Amino acid sequence: MDLEQLVTQLPDALYVIDPETAAIIDCNQLAYASLGLTPGQLLSMSVLDLQQDVGDLAHWRSIADTIREQQPYLFIGHHRRADGSHFPVEVCTRVQWHEGRELFVSIVRDISTRIEQVTACCEESAEHWFGLHDTADGCWSWHPGNNALYFSPNLKRLLGYGPDEMEPRLETWKDNIHTEDAPLVLSVLDEHLRGTRHLFEAEYRLRNRNGHYVWIRDRGQVRERDTEGNPLRVVGLVHNITDLKLQELDLQRKADFDTLTGLFNRRRGEVLAEQMLSLMQRQQRPLGFALLDIDDFKRINDLHGHLAGDAVLKRVAQYIAEFVRRSDLVFRWGGEEFVLLCPDTSTSGMEILMHKLRTGIEYLRFDDELRGLKVTASIGVSHYPDDASELVNLMARADSALYAAKHKGKNQVIFFHDDVDSASVG
Ligand code: GH3
Ligand code: MG
Ligand code: MG
Repeated sequence: MDLEQLVTQLPDALYVIDPETAAIIDCNQLAYASLGLTPGQLLSMSVLDLQQDVGDLAHWRSIADTIREQQPYLFIGHHRRADGSHFPVEVCTRVQWHEGRELFVSIVRDISTRIEQVTACCEESAEHWFGLHDTADGCWSWHPGNNALYFSPNLKRLLGYGPDEMEPRLETWKDNIHTEDAPLVLSVLDEHLRGTRHLFEAEYRLRNRNGHYVWIRDRGQVRERDTEGNPLRVVGLVHNITDLKLQELDLQRKADFDTLTGLFNRRRGEVLAEQMLSLMQRQQRPLGFALLDIDDFKRINDLHGHLAGDAVLKRVAQYIAEFVRRSDLVFRWGGEEFVLLCPDTSTSGMEILMHKLRTGIEYLRFDDELRGLKVTASIGVSHYPDDASELVNLMARADSALYAAKHKGKNQVIFFHDDVDSASVG
């Protein structure tokens, strides 16, 4: 049997391709017959016309580089028939030099039956292991051996895909996991595959067809292993937990932030303050601590009403938030009191900063019915490591400095180390 005969009788389609232009320069009979084309038609086409999964010439060239690096190069894609329909193919490509010219030779196998078989078998296993698909928002079945990953129709629907979309490969799933979640999800899966974790169980974000993320709870388990313990079949159930997760995140946000001012609340603020102080202690860096209290705030409430009082609180909080540096921490201690932590700030640095802040508040302008209102604040300051090392003591020292500021007539900044009698520097 000569080579030509062999090629004609090959059960797979064969293509000879020009790596530079992607043009198809030769093929066997099965190639054009399986596409419903004449030889002349096929030989006037390029890979770009044929392969649905190759975008443009630049994409082709990057594939060509990979082919040169790893031979034979295996590619799963879709070929387009003359009537516009597609079918899945496995393409195995090698570089062949012919009379000094580089050529690619591709053997193309129609794998629609294989995919149908895998799908049917996965579907069967999903039903077998988990009962009806409807018990979950989706199920999947993965054969690590040939990398086939079956997605149930409702799982596809959940992610916004039609029944014939989503290529049944592991990458289809892997590439769509949120980048922040992927490392953890993949390591949990890896631990389960290696047998160090009983279940694969994770909550993570998966990108849907239009680029948004769906929160899912995914639980799976290896159901079959080979004699050496390698996983043969892994099956899993998926639940859409987007609403639940968003509620949880919202609750978490509410638990951390003060609803009126949008600043961190005291609960969260104290945790962050402890963290910041221990970092400063470890790295022997200074930290300024300030307690700010709006003066005569009760009078504002009494004269203008509680809603106006709220508006003043919001305005002052917003001013403080804009005033501080990104590295500073500010939170609402309660009522009309705010706490500020300024890392890497010396006592003299705090003096400059706090006087600016006090003056800024004094010159805040209010609108509408509060037009002309003048609001002032008193600030008590303590310093790590000069005044105290523990948060509770820094707070107590700043509080007694604040008390002194009130005592001395308000609208001023007092430093604990200046002590209470002479101390007005505001
Ligand atoms: P001082 O100058 O000594 O600080 O006097 P002050 O009136 O600011 O302080 P005082 O502690 O007597 O009153 C604080 C008031 O702040 C009492 C409380 O009703 C009011 N307040 C606390 N939280 C809120 C709030 O969220 N909204 C409003 N509108 N008022 C609040
Ligand atoms: Mg107060
Ligand atoms: Mg007050």
